[in-house]
Amino acid sequence: MKKKLVIANWKMNPVKLADAKKVLTGTLKEVAGVKAVQVVVCPPTVFLPELSKAVKGAGAPRLCVQDLFHEGSGAYTGQTSPQMAKQFKATWAILGHSERRERGEDNETVGRKVRYAIAEGYTAVLCIGERERNEEGAHYTFVRDELEAVFAGLKRKDLEKLVIAYEPVWAIGKRAEEAMQTHELYEMALFIKKLLIERYGRKPAEQVSVLYGGSVKPENAEQIVREGGVDGLLVGSASLDPKQYGEIVRAVQTVAQAQV
Ligand code: PEP
Repeated sequence: MKKKLVIANWKMNPVKLADAKKVLTGTLKEVAGVKAVQVVVCPPTVFLPELSKAVKGAGAPRLCVQDLFHEGSGAYTGQTSPQMAKQFKATWAILGHSERRERGEDNETVGRKVRYAIAEGYTAVLCIGERERNEEGAHYTFVRDELEAVFAGLKRKDLEKLVIAYEPVWAIGKRAEEAMQTHELYEMALFIKKLLIERYGRKPAEQVSVLYGGSVKPENAEQIVREGGVDGLLVGSASLDPKQYGEIVRAVQTVAQAQV
């Protein structure tokens, strides 16, 4: 069985390096000893050189960036290349987050970034998710289109390094009660897994972890993973509080241990 994942997306927080160090130190303390869950931490890229010094050892959390460009170097003002970030122990990358798509990133660009990051040895966390839902189920078509745009350039082998984070945009940044209902999540997780199997076959498809993101808190984490048919969580605001994040990781560990 795949190891469950809990990814911390700090977004553009905190502002000060000293505070980022405190969040990381607290997080490392909280998750020390957790073995059944792979912890992944995505701080702002500019803090990586300093924060990476504190992340040591085979069992340590993986470091992740919140975006990467699809070229190694050149006249691309403001971009960060995979080759740059990997010098500071980043081995995972969130790509296509809705907060970037809202600012103009399209499916084609996300697809190029995913392919390039995987070719450079990263685990790519592809974010997908509809902005809204309607009675006709347009959200299924929306999610399928987002996935197919990326699948178009991905080979079977690339799936070893792919994670899909389903994050319905309407459920992001809210209170725990406003996270997605687990029976709805179960259907969507199944739909995503079915698309993967149809395109790549069962074995390669089963290597891909499907995560949920959107208002995950200590009080709903266990239920989401137990009932939602997902392999882990992508956590935004709650990941900035090491105590809350630690509780979420331990909640997922409880589910992982019960499923062995
Ligand atoms: C996110 O934006 O990736 C996210 C999951 O945020 P939050 O947990 O704050 O809803």
